[in-house]
Amino acid sequence: MPGDIDVAVVGAGAAGLATARRLAERRPDLTVLVLEARDRPGGRAHTVEPPDLDAPLDLGCSWLHGAESNPWLPIAEGLGLTVDRTPAPWSGQYRDLGFPPEDRRAYREAAAAFDERRAAAEVDPVDRPLGALLEPGGPWNGRLDAASTYYSGAGLAEISVHDAARYRVRGSDWRVVEGYGHAVVRFGADVPVALDTPVTRVDHGGAAMIRLETPRGTLRARAAVVTVSTGVLAAGAIRFDPPLPDKVEAAQSVPMGLANKVFLRLAAPDELPKDGHLIGEPRSARTGAYHLRPFGRPVIEGYFGGGLARDLEEAGDAEAEAFALDELAGLLGSGFRRRARLLVRTRWGRDAYVRGSYAYARPGAADRRAVLAAPVGGRLIFAGEATSPDAFTTARGAYESGRRAADEVLGQLGGGRA
Ligand SMILES: Cc1cc2nc3c(=O)[nH]c(=O)nc-3n(C[C@H](O)[C@H](O)[C@H](O)COP(=O)(O)OP(=O)(O)OC[C@H]3O[C@@H](n4cnc5c(N)ncnc54)[C@H](O)[C@@H]3O)c2cc1C
Repeated sequence: MPGDIDVAVVGAGAAGLATARRLAERRPDLTVLVLEARDRPGGRAHTVEPPDLDAPLDLGCSWLHGAESNPWLPIAEGLGLTVDRTPAPWSGQYRDLGFPPEDRRAYREAAAAFDERRAAAEVDPVDRPLGALLEPGGPWNGRLDAASTYYSGAGLAEISVHDAARYRVRGSDWRVVEGYGHAVVRFGADVPVALDTPVTRVDHGGAAMIRLETPRGTLRARAAVVTVSTGVLAAGAIRFDPPLPDKVEAAQSVPMGLANKVFLRLAAPDELPKDGHLIGEPRSARTGAYHLRPFGRPVIEGYFGGGLARDLEEAGDAEAEAFALDELAGLLGSGFRRRARLLVRTRWGRDAYVRGSYAYARPGAADRRAVLAAPVGGRLIFAGEATSPDAFTTARGAYESGRRAADEVLGQLGGGRA
């Protein structure tokens, strides 16, 4: 531990790295150190290269949502990485298997009617759960709910209408060929990061410096930026002195949803199309979304959200693999089971340094994101995906929150905005 510095940043994910980069651009004279609990930077932006695949896989973020205006687009291209502009395959169903065109049309109509009710509810001063807008007994309620678990990590009944209305990301969904996680880590390559350094206590009561305790020693900083997830905050994994009950309450009201990926390795990839798509059970809330051969690679990326993701996370590898293979074999034929095997899967809920995938606001809690984002005493600043007013759940929201946090630091230490 260097002892005394100007700014300590807790967490080397997209938000923390964006904070540090912004500070370095605006005030290169400041001493800044990012304290990261893990043995790697990136947080939920995490690309791996399984030895037997020879291609990168994103275990966390993979889509540049609202790509045309997404700040990670110029960053990734500026780093010399390749952005693939193939449209996201989510609305398609390979060979119409189990989801014929007339059903897809009926679903689209149900979704449009849901969106109309939603638009009316958004301007109603009384907040409600999105689930209250479902047509009672509607045949496509399961599908609408499943989609919610992919976007928000939670079912419609758990999510605030008012909060969902504030999400402003629009446009295409593109991908970084080398991996979104890779792009985030490369972006932060010059940022000073102390790895394996979990912050356990933040003492912000003293007049002069904020003290950050870690198993590797104590750091003192003129300002600190905390970028950890609401899962980490709500669990009390970092002790604040004086305590911050408003932050903890806000973190509990904007809890972590869960979405997990199950990657299957294909033995006969050519039987499936490049960038195809299948929904396992189109009428069910508990089903996987399967991206067939992303970039033409010999894998299927299964995506599971909400309660199903939670159940599969608790289950063993064999059960998670079997769930995906059962759904796929139901559509592709029972012989498919022999032509795919589990490659890698995520368990973001069990990950002690995030405790979920992305944060959603409970009904009545839309204003808690502002509570999460509010600085404490000027020098203790908060950032991270969940603090974004309009791009929450995304790596882009994390980045923007990190830049905002850096500007708040500069407002305290001098450096102004640019
Ligand atoms: C399965 C999945 C799919 C996703 N898909 C997309 C997508 O396609 N597009 C998209 O834009 N977004 C996606 N996201 C969301 C996106 O990855 C996140 O919103 C974003 O990466 C969050 O960045 P962050 O910096 O706010 O938080 P994090 O990445 O969680 O960073 C916080 C950091 O703090 C560290 N930390 C925690 N506790 C401590 C401590 N006590 N001391 C020090 N460090 C600590 C953590 O290890 C972590 O590195 C996905 C996420 C998941 C899980």
